[in-house]
Amino acid sequence: MPEQEDRQKFVYDFTEGNKDLKDLLGGKGANLAEMTNLGLPVPPGFTITTEACKVYLDSGSEPAALCDEVSAHLDALERRMGKRLGQADDPLLVSVRSGAKFSMPGMMDTVLNIGLSDESVAGLAAQADDWRFAWDSYRRLIQMFGKTVLDVDGDLFESALEDAKHAKGAATDVDLDAADLEQLVTRFKEIVAKETGRDFPQDPREQMDLAVRAVFDSWNTERAKLYRRQERIPGDLGTAVNICSMVFGNLGPDSGTGVAFTRDPASGQQGVYGDYLQNAQGEDVVAGIRNTVPLADLESLDKPSYDQLMQIMETLETHYKDLCDIEFTIERGKLWMLQTRVGKRTAGAAFRIATQLVDQGLIDEAEALQRVNGAQLAQLMFPRFDDAATGGAATGSGTTGGGAGGAGGKGAKPLGRGIAASPGAAVGKAVFDSYTAVKWSRSGEKVILIRRETNPDDLNGMIAAEAILTSRGGKTSHAAVVARGMGKTCVCGAEELEVDTKRRRMTAPGGTVVEEGDTVSIDGSSGKICLGEVPVVPSPVVEYFEGRTHAGADDADDLVKAVHRIMAYADRMRRLRVRANADNAEDASRARRFGAQGIGLCRTEHMFLGERRELVERLILADTEDEREEALGALLPLQKADFIELFESMDGLPVTVRLLDPPLHEFLPDITELSVRVALAESRKDHNENDLRLLQAVHKLHEQNPMLGLRGVRLGLVIPGLFTMQVRAIAEAAAARIEAKGDPRAEIMIPLVGTVQELELVREDAERVLAEVREATGADLKLALGTMIELPRAALTAGQIAEAAEFFSFGTNDLTQTVWGFSRDDVEASFFTAYLEKGIFGVSPFETIDKDGVGTLVRDAVTAGRATRPDLKLGVCGEHGGDPESVHFFHEVGLDYVSCSPFRIPVARLEAGRAAARSKGSDSR
Ligand code: ADP
Ligand code: MG
Ligand code: MG
Repeated sequence: MPEQEDRQKFVYDFTEGNKDLKDLLGGKGANLAEMTNLGLPVPPGFTITTEACKVYLDSGSEPAALCDEVSAHLDALERRMGKRLGQADDPLLVSVRSGAKFSMPGMMDTVLNIGLSDESVAGLAAQADDWRFAWDSYRRLIQMFGKTVLDVDGDLFESALEDAKHAKGAATDVDLDAADLEQLVTRFKEIVAKETGRDFPQDPREQMDLAVRAVFDSWNTERAKLYRRQERIPGDLGTAVNICSMVFGNLGPDSGTGVAFTRDPASGQQGVYGDYLQNAQGEDVVAGIRNTVPLADLESLDKPSYDQLMQIMETLETHYKDLCDIEFTIERGKLWMLQTRVGKRTAGAAFRIATQLVDQGLIDEAEALQRVNGAQLAQLMFPRFDDAATGGAATGSGTTGGGAGGAGGKGAKPLGRGIAASPGAAVGKAVFDSYTAVKWSRSGEKVILIRRETNPDDLNGMIAAEAILTSRGGKTSHAAVVARGMGKTCVCGAEELEVDTKRRRMTAPGGTVVEEGDTVSIDGSSGKICLGEVPVVPSPVVEYFEGRTHAGADDADDLVKAVHRIMAYADRMRRLRVRANADNAEDASRARRFGAQGIGLCRTEHMFLGERRELVERLILADTEDEREEALGALLPLQKADFIELFESMDGLPVTVRLLDPPLHEFLPDITELSVRVALAESRKDHNENDLRLLQAVHKLHEQNPMLGLRGVRLGLVIPGLFTMQVRAIAEAAAARIEAKGDPRAEIMIPLVGTVQELELVREDAERVLAEVREATGADLKLALGTMIELPRAALTAGQIAEAAEFFSFGTNDLTQTVWGFSRDDVEASFFTAYLEKGIFGVSPFETIDKDGVGTLVRDAVTAGRATRPDLKLGVCGEHGGDPESVHFFHEVGLDYVSCSPFRIPVARLEAGRAAARSKGSDSR
């Protein structure tokens, strides 16, 4: 594409764009263009690019060329529609809609009916032959424009509307007649004049230009910024603006507006999903102001439009090869498409849909892997409510159910059921506002945010809460959409519950009252809501990984079947091997069940704790060679037994054992405690010789900064015999396993190496021990010896270090600490929130590897290491090994394996598969 030339073009007609231009046209604009080009009925319009927005955000004013370009496109639109914007006798009206590359639900408000004025309202009435409609459209314009463009408090309009309804005794806005609405317009204009000090603008082009600018400005509202941080959306993308000619769903009962999904976004099932609202405009359908009807009911209301919609939905699914969500409006029996996008879905639905699409021949396995991700898989591994305890099965489709049914589990009382909007089971204390949610969760409480419905102002509370419960709104409501995006449990539209946020309470049909602070349990898979705590059961996906259920079984859960298939695609595709960080046979066995191909990090420090701590004390206190030998001699058989067990559970697979790493004082009593004990004993004239010696040792070993002190290889070189004993234990255990006809594949790993000389010294000693064990046992021992790369110096001199190492394992936890000069425990608790808030990093470098800093060292060390020793084995054993984004990085830099905690192994397998599929250049999105 000729980028250079296009840079100057700031406006695209809907006929000019396509779905791949999301960077430039935003998601909404790109897809409007795509639908237009597919020949679907989209009201004509044009899109102002994100580039124009960026210029505005950078310079504070619109690009010079923009005004004329907009005029030219508006001109063309007017000619096409046969009327001019705001024309007095027959006004062209438009909507001004924000639309960034990534959808940000509720972040930036659309303004409808732009072009209406005191004059043209009469023209609109005449054209439609409907005064009520004209006044309704005008009052909506002033309301939306007042709130979003002129920053007037929206509640002022809301309460004026409530007053009007009240005065009339009207239940909903449709019960207001033309005269009521005309009065309301007068009232709304007064509000605008009073609040802004100027009259509502009557010039249509001025309305439009102000709205466009407001969209640009809305990019930087606090809540938009918060959402971007949450979702890791870069702050400099800017938003596009769509100008779209209006179509009207509020022209009477033969008109209406709706939302639809081509598949159920909660379960993935194919079918007719959506909501429809007659005689309504725009957001009415999702705002919960009136009760919507299920989309299926449209068939009896307006069969031709319904049939056409079904046809279009099929076209879109086949075209996008994915679940689409859709906004449409029917104007007097004519269907109009107002938006589509690849729809958000629950984790379970993502897996099911991906395999369904493979079966339909729409996508291949590599593409299926791009349709799911590790975060979703992790979500599916959450436990959920015990159905038996809450009465009856009924997970799944999550349509609005009747009563709660059945008895509650141990003391939990069913309160009712809402729409299952986002899965997971959550138990927490009821709170009724965002502020309390944040406050209580800061003090460590688990809370469930209960609202009638949510809006963007509730975002903080939603983030803080375990789960969200609303009494209004469907699967497409703000609460549902945002919760699904955050992977948070949500039950919405529990209409039988009366939520009173002012009095901070909720009342169930039987009269049961839930007060703020009461424990409630909600299940986002079934929609169940209970007072009290409901027991939870393990996830079927975990049961499957554990081997307790089988995907092949006839009665296997279809989610398990889908996960099983996707994991098989990933395993076939991936290049990275996946190992586990496991210190004992139990973890190792689980890791193996979860698909681990070995152990990448077995820490030995746990083997020195508990009853054995006393032996370590003796080792530290040893004055003579004999005493030291004795202590080590006592530790040896214990260590050896540990390793035998471990090698047995990982028979045939590599097990990397790291020699002792932490500073020795971690094995000694706490300095304060011991000092007090000694002091008390002194005062009683009751000397304890051992305690005194211990205290001396503790003082001697006390370090200002233990993280940077005597630990890792330094210990091994300074405490004679320690590493030797460990190497001997490993070697003898391996020999014992060989003798038992096993296949041990031990690898010895030296921590905290900074220079090759350290490694060479340890290596010499280790090789001597290995030779001795070989000699003594006759076993054909082959043990690889390698090192962690977790200090910047090690990474910088990786080429030298590789001379003495058969493998590198990047210890990215310590490497991150030492590269940044952070002590993790200290910084995370103190200033990381501030750093995240200030956007210094979008995500903690301990969570996702810092590619530019730490990552550069890893990349360079890989290159230097392999240059010295082409068959150098490379892995990573920091927590990053189980982080999706980091796994992709490790794939890219060419590591051989990642190692992570047993529970993250499926996630790492999946992401390794995804990374390989993506780099093979399949048509990823
Ligand atoms: P959001 O990004 O919040 O979905 P939209 O720009 O899609 O905002 O618009 C808000 C509502 O107004 C939607 O229901 C949409 O379908 C409706 N809408 C937008 N433009 C028009 C239009 N030109 N005619 C009729 N309805 C419109
Ligand atoms: Mg929309
Ligand atoms: Mg370390």
